[in-house]
Amino acid sequence: MNDIPIQPQPQPPRSDTGIQSFFLPPGTPGRPRIARAEGIWLEDTAGNRYLDASSGPVASNLGHGNPRVLAALEKQARAAAFAFPAQFESEANLELGERLARLCGPGLDRAFLVSGGSEATETVIKFCRQHAVVTGQGSRWKVLSREPGYHGNTLGALAVSGDAHAHEVFGPLLRAVDRVPAPFTYRLPANHTAESHARACAAALEEAIVREGPETVLAFIMEPVGGLATGALVAPDVYYRTVREICSRHGVLLIFDEVMSGAGRTGRFLAADHWPDARPDLVTLAKGVTAGYTPMGVMMAPAAMADTLARAGGFMQGFTYFANPLSCAVGCAVLAEMEERDLPGNAARMGERLRARLHGLRDRSPIVGDVRGLGLLMAMELVADKETKAMIPLERMAPYRLQQLGLQHGLALYCRRTNRGTYGDWVMVSPPLVVTADEVDMLADRLEAVIDAYVAELSADGVI
Ligand code: PMP
Repeated sequence: MNDIPIQPQPQPPRSDTGIQSFFLPPGTPGRPRIARAEGIWLEDTAGNRYLDASSGPVASNLGHGNPRVLAALEKQARAAAFAFPAQFESEANLELGERLARLCGPGLDRAFLVSGGSEATETVIKFCRQHAVVTGQGSRWKVLSREPGYHGNTLGALAVSGDAHAHEVFGPLLRAVDRVPAPFTYRLPANHTAESHARACAAALEEAIVREGPETVLAFIMEPVGGLATGALVAPDVYYRTVREICSRHGVLLIFDEVMSGAGRTGRFLAADHWPDARPDLVTLAKGVTAGYTPMGVMMAPAAMADTLARAGGFMQGFTYFANPLSCAVGCAVLAEMEERDLPGNAARMGERLRARLHGLRDRSPIVGDVRGLGLLMAMELVADKETKAMIPLERMAPYRLQQLGLQHGLALYCRRTNRGTYGDWVMVSPPLVVTADEVDMLADRLEAVIDAYVAELSADGVI
């Protein structure tokens, strides 16, 4: 591949039989139709190639076509593609459970395996609730969370997600629970520093617990490093410590949603590992565990809690595809690759290289207001005015437009689907963990070209 941005060849006409027909109005252009993918590159049926700047939705941690994963998938498929956990044990499940427990460390000993991040959220909430019931704490059921925040699209997961737009539409179907502000670090309330705001956000959690009645609060769920909902938000250190103390003080379980931040993405296996004095009670994982090759979601829980439920008749949870042998075999191969190649270490090193390039872009571009994140979970916030931090006008649909310009420059970008103008506009920058220094540079070159093209467009229209 050369590093010169490519012009897309014409796409085949759109068909309305696919999933896109639920999202794109009839008559509008389609999305590139993928023919093949290898490493960090995707190629469409017209021969255009796209550098994957986001690992899809921050999932493809190993890139595409990894031979070890493909071999593991084939081997398991030939041996036993399916075995139902309520009837049979599988070797792949045992091995994956053991690997995950070792990587997550003490207290996160048992892995309950499901089919995705949303199912993992449902699972962890039900697990905590059933545990409360069997241990005489039946009054505890409320799950507090952050606004904004994202924990999945099923109804239970959406109920705890801080997503005002989704709640406007689906609100009547969702059990209402308290949410506390996420500790944003770029747009701050008047007279606040990032640190004082983080302290105030943590204090808001304690106020919410007291307001609700601590004996009714089951858990607090949060993304330790944010995803799409906050644009890779990392809070000041004091936040994590304080939240941990508050939860412990009130007997509230602390759940870290590491669906996006886990599996090595931030430079450690868990993002939680960056804050050892704020160890969560339970963790959810997904995406990176199978690196996009097959569906997988994980709840990691303390052995004592799992044993308590097992003795009390068993965890009331299960799906047709839970602990699916194919996904378990893929997970084992992915984690073996991750450990042997020290991909968390690569994520930390390449993350610093990428951050330096993005800082360069921020310093010279009039529309890049903030760069944040950890390891290879990063995001760039766009503004119309860096002094006032004014957002680009809503009708410009900045994230969507940037995504389009990305495709024209051979760059696959991941942005928020809707631009509601509430918190800001950002684009995720989160390439696969296998990315090399040359590829980071190429990604950054293309991203700069995309941003420059957007600046030219906005200034030609007098927006900036
Ligand atoms: N939690 C977080 C933090 C996520 O980023 C996502 C997916 N973007 C989910 C939960 C839901 O995962 P899934 O889409 O696999 O259901």
